[in-house]
Amino acid sequence: MEKSEKYRANAETAVYGSKEMASPAPTDKIPQSKTTPEIAYQMVKDETYPQTQPPLNLATFVTTYMDEYATRLMNEAINVNFIDETEYPHIAVMSGRCINILANLWHSSEKNASKCGALGIGSSEACMLGGVAAWLRWRARRRKEGKPFDKPNLVTSSGLQVVWEKFCQLWQIELRQVPLSKEHKTLDAKQAVAMCDENTICIVPIVGVTWTGLNDDVAALDKELDAYNRRTGYEISMHVDAASGGFILPFLNPDLKWDFRLKWVYSISTSGHKFGLVYPGLGWVVWRDKKYLPEEMSFSVNYLGSNITQVGLNFSRPAAQVLGQYYNFIRLGFEGYKEVHTNSMEIACHCHERIGKMKCFENYSDEVVNPLFVWHMDTEYDKTARWTLFDLQATLQQSGWMVPAYTLPKDIDNIIVMRIVVRQGMSRDMADMLLKDIENAVAEFDKLQYPTQSRIAYEKKIRQKGRVFTH
Ligand SMILES: *Cc1c(COP(=O)(O)O)cnc(C)c1O
Repeated sequence: MEKSEKYRANAETAVYGSKEMASPAPTDKIPQSKTTPEIAYQMVKDETYPQTQPPLNLATFVTTYMDEYATRLMNEAINVNFIDETEYPHIAVMSGRCINILANLWHSSEKNASKCGALGIGSSEACMLGGVAAWLRWRARRRKEGKPFDKPNLVTSSGLQVVWEKFCQLWQIELRQVPLSKEHKTLDAKQAVAMCDENTICIVPIVGVTWTGLNDDVAALDKELDAYNRRTGYEISMHVDAASGGFILPFLNPDLKWDFRLKWVYSISTSGHKFGLVYPGLGWVVWRDKKYLPEEMSFSVNYLGSNITQVGLNFSRPAAQVLGQYYNFIRLGFEGYKEVHTNSMEIACHCHERIGKMKCFENYSDEVVNPLFVWHMDTEYDKTARWTLFDLQATLQQSGWMVPAYTLPKDIDNIIVMRIVVRQGMSRDMADMLLKDIENAVAEFDKLQYPTQSRIAYEKKIRQKGRVFTH
């Protein structure tokens, strides 16, 4: 018998008595021999232990808590592929209902909205579909007018999520960014319209800006755009990137107009897996009217048992998320979503207030419009501080929290901020524990005799670039 044969695990082998547990994990080559499921499970599981626990991950917007029934429903559908519509026709029906429900929440007047939307693996796919539709509409118009269509551009703010860089790079569309500044903490409508021309495929305002949690003023943009389109005869529309806001505003700020109530909003995308309260990955995109979803974006295949027509970048995708979304709509209803988000908002406001009162900190914005906010060091305190928010991030990590520190987008990139996203699963008690950990960490930093490495790097940067934030 070969030596390796002799050591092969069998059903009786104790998991931690196996040779696998005493050997390095495979990193390059598939192991030659097999092992028991218990050992394989334990090896994979062990790798995950040193990571942040998902509920303590305050960096993510993505759902980390669903109730037991939702979890059961999703686990039971783990082997279902969404694309197999012939075999699982009710999944497609449920997806259509979810699109209808969202279209209604966003005040679409389309009767059969299920045909004017699509699901994606997240907002990224949903944004790309919205962007492609805008590009194709623009191209069709240009073609009809006999004008060139080789130089498309898209206008958004520098507070964009990376998906818009990806979209523009992958489809070779010029990305025009309205800079954010101390004065314009969200997209400035006038500047955005000033960046438009005959080659602009659309403007992308964001509700729930990833960097700051603020909302672009879509109504102001609509007004500027309406005047501009009227003056020029162009038909520049908006795609609203409502990854977070799409599931917050209908419940917490129903009177704010940012959706299909505005004339030039032709499409909206959101993340079902953010404040839609579904585990990753699920995104949605809805068009104002079927005519704004170009025909060329629907593809049909005939080899799945019948003719399946789909709008999407991916082909196969999990069906479980659709069940989770539809379950949430039934389980929570309007009131339930409102209650969950109201709690998140209250806890976010509580943290915002407490952070704002600490002498070393200052909130980036006085208002909290989505359940997340960012703050930076107080300007006076910053002049003599021997640490930065990156040090605070590292210290909090030692107690299991992930509270990210980062620099803001270009032009305001020498501001270091820290962000908390409050999601379902973050209780007031947890928030108070976090605040205590922050206070304890700051008390220790205040005793520092010498600057930290991160502080030294920061000082060097502001010597070169100046301290932008001096209000
Ligand atoms: C999160 C986010 C995205 C990307 O969404 P995914 O669901 O992670 O693909 C796009 N835009 C904004 C504003 C976001 O916050």
